[in-house]
Amino acid sequence: MKVLFTGIQPTGLLHIGNYFGAVRNWVSLQHQYRTYISVVDLHAITIQYEPREMPGAVQEMVLQLAACGIDPEKTLLFVQSEVPGHADLTWTFNTITPLGELERMTQFKDKSAQHRKNVNVGLLDYPVLQAADILIYKGEVVPVGEDQVQHVEFTREVARRFNARYGDTFPECEALLTASPRIMGLDGQAKMSKSKDNTIGLLETREEVWAKLSVAPTDPARVRRSDPGTPEKCNIYSYHKLVTPEPQLSQTVAQGCRTAGIGCIDCKKLFLDNLMKELDPIRERYGQLAARPEKVREALDANAATCRADAGRTILEVKEKMGLARTWKI
Ligand code: SF4
Repeated sequence: MKVLFTGIQPTGLLHIGNYFGAVRNWVSLQHQYRTYISVVDLHAITIQYEPREMPGAVQEMVLQLAACGIDPEKTLLFVQSEVPGHADLTWTFNTITPLGELERMTQFKDKSAQHRKNVNVGLLDYPVLQAADILIYKGEVVPVGEDQVQHVEFTREVARRFNARYGDTFPECEALLTASPRIMGLDGQAKMSKSKDNTIGLLETREEVWAKLSVAPTDPARVRRSDPGTPEKCNIYSYHKLVTPEPQLSQTVAQGCRTAGIGCIDCKKLFLDNLMKELDPIRERYGQLAARPEKVREALDANAATCRADAGRTILEVKEKMGLARTWKI
């Protein structure tokens, strides 16, 4: 089986953008690859955060991933800081990475503009840690959105550079682009994101979702109920595509919108029904897991031990190739 690696920051509650844009895809991929999914707390500390809240945020993320269908007994779901090799390999990669390359990374430019008072070395070094995350398990496949393709390309470059300098060690991983498009926020203006306050939370109840959905903008051409609309111009239609099966999508939503056969409120209610069919079981599973978190914690401990062993083998190989292994003749 090929090796797949992906990571997610412990950012609190997941929203449907995270789920349909990434996590749902991981749930099916875990059956096709030897899968490592890391809650990347070492990445999360590159911006200001509250240390007291970090353990809870990590636990929350793990439970939500498990509730979504990531099976911690099948998939190597683990917490990044519990495997010291990630930081170890990062230092090694730092020594073969030109500074200019890191300064040119789009994410560094965006984040340093966003966090002007805290442009730390970790923020700059973020892609190197990401490369280490993947390569320490000799990852071959990395599921990403389009905004992360640059980082996968960077990882390939790190692998090529290391292999050229110290001998063939790392595979050149491939980006596996997710089928889901970028999921816009409820405002229809920007990508769904907690910081933009435009999300539908994965664990929200039907009533909570409806409170947000009912006031979300639609195609501005539909001023009156009798005005025909263009579904492609409506954010709600893009949401429908995630959960509404055919022929309901084409016949009821798209055609209904174009002919004013359906009103926006009814259209939103239809989306709500189909969305909750997907979210209700997740919320239910989350409740069960959160009532007994020790079960997931046990699986996480076992996974961390496996990851430490896997990472340890790579670190040993790297050290030997770099002349850092203990081989003194006494
Ligand atoms: S009918 Fe549906 S797809 Fe058309 S504008 Fe209204 S909410 Fe959007």
